[in-house]
Amino acid sequence: MNFSFEVKATDPTGARRGRLTTPHGKVETPFFMPVGTAATVKGLTQSALEDLGAEIILSNTYHLYLRPGHELIHRLGGLHRFMSWPRAILTDSGGFQVFSLSELRKITDEGVRFRSHLDGSEHLLTPEKAVEIQLARGSDIAMVLDECIETPAPRGAAESAVDRTTAWAKRARKQFLKCAAPNTDLPQWQFGIVQGATFADLRRQSARQLVDIDFPGYAVGGLAVGEPHDLTCEMTGVATADLPKEKLRYLMGVGRPEQIADYVALGIDMMDCVLPTRAARHACLYTSEGRVLIKNARYAEDQRPVDPSCSCAICKRYTRAYLRHVFAAGEITAAILGTHHNVHFYLDIMRQIREAIEFGNLAKFSSAIRARYAAGPA
Ligand SMILES: [Zn+2]
Repeated sequence: MNFSFEVKATDPTGARRGRLTTPHGKVETPFFMPVGTAATVKGLTQSALEDLGAEIILSNTYHLYLRPGHELIHRLGGLHRFMSWPRAILTDSGGFQVFSLSELRKITDEGVRFRSHLDGSEHLLTPEKAVEIQLARGSDIAMVLDECIETPAPRGAAESAVDRTTAWAKRARKQFLKCAAPNTDLPQWQFGIVQGATFADLRRQSARQLVDIDFPGYAVGGLAVGEPHDLTCEMTGVATADLPKEKLRYLMGVGRPEQIADYVALGIDMMDCVLPTRAARHACLYTSEGRVLIKNARYAEDQRPVDPSCSCAICKRYTRAYLRHVFAAGEITAAILGTHHNVHFYLDIMRQIREAIEFGNLAKFSSAIRARYAAGPA
């Protein structure tokens, strides 16, 4: 088997410590995936990402489908070779981005018809097409096309989104097995996505229907989109309770540094979020003491590193005063330095979480980071 997942330890909270094996290396779980929307994590070179210890990154299907196109990437040897990234890659289905184009899209049982935000050209994304695009790109983990709805959603809309998500997941699985079946070694792992908005019974129903289809891993989608954190946790807990313990669980699009351990405690093994990279470009740096808004005048002559307890290359070398200056001057370097630190910080939180699970004290880690973020930096 070229893919496997094993849980090696559990914590009293319910958190799991394990290892995912892919054709592009091992990934220690739980893990966080930096987001590389257009086959690049904005502000970081691939060698910087390797140095930071990222074992897997996420890449968006929608953007690369429109430009440069999955056929071109396939002709050039697949996404790993195209972007020179030797480690694991997860691709989304493109659904989330397409559904965000509220003015430009139309949903039917067949799929989603949408207009490109680049040139207005019309496209149809079906569950089968999302499978083919991701197989052509050769990512290690591929996501099925699901129906994403806005939250809060009326019950009727949430019910029909669950029905459609299940129907699309069945079609996606069938298409995947048809395309991948001739190979003895699977080229990819395909994950289903639990929907159901903020209705516990719909989350349960969605999880059970997807488990019946039998995927090697499952995601929980459509959460952390504006609802309170407690509700995100409640819905995540409801969904994971019905997912098989021996398979990976992925909470999509989370989260803030002080919330990550809460999701891990609910049995989540993997997450992704644009927050560390996007916030860095907006001069918001995450530290062990809380958020530092580095453009603030109070840092003009501050000779300390942005985070005195951070071991990253930026904190070893630069002062807050210098970082503030490059951000204020609008230098490209600002985004590069800020992103490097923030991604290091997120990956380091995950290392600490994995260690806490091994020692069985995740709850203590979780309350400590929450307290530090509530107090804010000195
Ligand atoms: Zn740092």
